[in-house]
Amino acid sequence: MIKDKVAIITGASSGIGEATAKLLGRKGAKVVLGARRADKLRQIVDEITGEGGHAVFRELDVTRQSDNDAIVKLAKDTFGRLDVIFLNAGLMPNSPLSALKTDDWHQMVDVNVKGVLNGVAAVLPTFIGQKSGHIIATSSVAGLKAYPNGAVYGGTKWFLRDFMEVLRMESAMEGTNIRTATIYPAAINTELLSTISQRDTLAQMQKTYDQYGISPDRIANVVAFAIEQPDDTTINELTVGPADQPW
Ligand code: NDP
Repeated sequence: MIKDKVAIITGASSGIGEATAKLLGRKGAKVVLGARRADKLRQIVDEITGEGGHAVFRELDVTRQSDNDAIVKLAKDTFGRLDVIFLNAGLMPNSPLSALKTDDWHQMVDVNVKGVLNGVAAVLPTFIGQKSGHIIATSSVAGLKAYPNGAVYGGTKWFLRDFMEVLRMESAMEGTNIRTATIYPAAINTELLSTISQRDTLAQMQKTYDQYGISPDRIANVVAFAIEQPDDTTINELTVGPADQPW
């Protein structure tokens, strides 16, 4: 059941996070949106509440532990509990390693890896204490297959595969009833390509997305599907993408 569940969504200001916030809101969840662009979050929250849903937002930079702790507090203070966190914030400034875009490498590690760790650290005490909770993360098909120009991005997404599986195993062993789900999207039409500054890489990826990209609503559906399962059932991993995308 999704209705009345309280769900934090990181990276909720566009793309997959925005689509998921709107869908969960329509399905009766109480959603707490986080990202850095407050103006975008405000618009999305207004849209959800305008349709009769329950939503609040907070500016969130996932690289700061204090921001992650604060959004968990906001969820509990506003809605009285917390059931789900969708760790979705991420960026993909791809380039060949030889371009030595080291600032981009470090930013991907900070957001895609450490941002997830910060989010998990923020919710675990609550989920362990109440002996329930659902942690969902957005990896990528780049977390399953290697491809040129995506060494660091892919590395951050491969990390999630290992991390989320161990989180699942330990939660089961410790009897905390924390469910996990890792989503592996392929080409989804969002703002993701906007951080790519390397011209050839951008042109190549843009071509792929123009040819195959599908709506972020498809990923929102899958997140909702994972949440909707009975509490005794975990959907561990889901790979989702355009039916005609060959890789
Ligand atoms: P978007 O660029 O549309 O969304 C990325 C979101 O992450 C934005 O809301 C952005 O908000 C947020 N974000 C970025 N940096 C931070 C930060 N430091 N703190 C908080 N939020 C941050 O792209 P997508 O919707 O596609 O991306 C969502 C996830 O999906 C990412 O993890 C991405 O790697 C993954 N993914 C996407 C695929 C695709 O084809 N689109 C395929 C596979 C995986 P703001 O700038 O306001 O902070």
